Amino acid sequence: MNEYDSSRMLDVLRHDCGFDVTHDPSNADVLLLNTCSIREKAQEKVFSQLGQWRPLKEKNPDVLIGVGGCVASQEGESLAARAKQVDVVFGPQTIHRLPDLLDQAATGRKAVIDISFPEMEKFDCLPEPGHQGPVAYVSVMEGCSKYCTYCVVPYTRGEEFSRPLDDVLHEIGLLAGQGAREVTLLGQNVNGYRGLDRHGNIVDFSLLLYYVSDIEGIERIRYTSSHPVEFSDNLIDTYAEIPELVNHVHLPVQSGSDRILSAMKRGYTALEYKSIIRKLRRHRPDVSISSDFIVGFPGETDQDFEDTMELVEEVGFDQSYSFIYSRRPGTPAASLEDPVSLDVKKQRLQRLQETIRNASMDRSQAMLGTDQVVLVEGHSKKSAQEYSGRTENNRVVNFDAPHDVRGRFVRLEITGVYSNSLRGAFHETAM
Ligand code: SAH
Ligand code: SF4
Repeated sequence: MNEYDSSRMLDVLRHDCGFDVTHDPSNADVLLLNTCSIREKAQEKVFSQLGQWRPLKEKNPDVLIGVGGCVASQEGESLAARAKQVDVVFGPQTIHRLPDLLDQAATGRKAVIDISFPEMEKFDCLPEPGHQGPVAYVSVMEGCSKYCTYCVVPYTRGEEFSRPLDDVLHEIGLLAGQGAREVTLLGQNVNGYRGLDRHGNIVDFSLLLYYVSDIEGIERIRYTSSHPVEFSDNLIDTYAEIPELVNHVHLPVQSGSDRILSAMKRGYTALEYKSIIRKLRRHRPDVSISSDFIVGFPGETDQDFEDTMELVEEVGFDQSYSFIYSRRPGTPAASLEDPVSLDVKKQRLQRLQETIRNASMDRSQAMLGTDQVVLVEGHSKKSAQEYSGRTENNRVVNFDAPHDVRGRFVRLEITGVYSNSLRGAFHETAM
């Protein structure tokens, strides 16, 4: 989501101000930092980066420094007070006002702060997105109204709101016209999508998927993140009917303990989560499921953690994200007693990560010798002679091809499995 927001910042600055990007900070007229406050560590990085930029500001006082994103949203005035070199503080919902905010900062003497949540205004005011290549990202809904007890998102990004259907389809159509073949629909809980169509009727996420799959040129659809509570039977059924939907679902579970899930206010039990997966696998037996986990939520006992491990074994998760719980000021869980030591939490995290890593390695090994369709995103990181793309289940595959296949789907045989990538032998262009 932050990468998407950053690219929209660039779109608006290019379009309205004629700016371009320099990769040398000492060359820049404006330095922008897009920030994340989901965990404390991400938040700390902001102040260390601002410290590194201070000498640039001292050398050239005309340089403008802006901080956007969730740390900006959460800290507001106090960020500008703590880091005097900052000229503009803006939130995730006010990136379209950047040109104006920078103008005000250039002429005024005080830091300019705008962390309001003007719903929809952002999308009405942003220019059309610039070229993103074969893989494009489109925000369909923003914010979150779930208020899980550990999470800052509802406070930093505001409550859920969905973009109108026509706006989303228009943007995807535009990107498809520029060569996008795969689209990732973005939102904190995309399956909470409730956009209006042109007649004022509410369109839910499964219906949105049907519309997106009809857009010419779009052969692959991904989305992230989805929430188990809104993973409806209608949505599950789209996996039988929409071949463009990849064979991969990212569905954060957080914990396998019902006691912890309830303390997190997630709104489902481990059994309900497993039932979603079982139904999905009826349509797609080999679907790959990835997830997010929080280890060491306040009061998580050994038994609670064992429940998570049991769920992990049962579901057989693919490559997933897991982190130790981070206390976020202002959230309900921040005041809970947390008697478990950091050492114990670290051991739990290590066990969880190792189990998931082994399971996803087994999945990769099982792909050896199979044919896979890959969307080629460009040259591989290691060599300009080699190409690189992703399988439906999100594995990077590097391979040689007899001609330029960038932006195309190709069929490959998987010939090698490594910890972070696969190797493939080129068969043919697929679509
Ligand atoms: N809306 C999505 C996830 C958005 S946040 C969902 O609910 O599934 C991305 C991930 O960050 C979460 O899934 C969670 O695992 C993690 N996260 C959020 N707050 C956290 C915290 N305080 N400490 C540790 N991890 C956290
Ligand atoms: Fe945070 Fe996701 Fe819960 Fe919303 S649903 S509060 S984004 S973890």
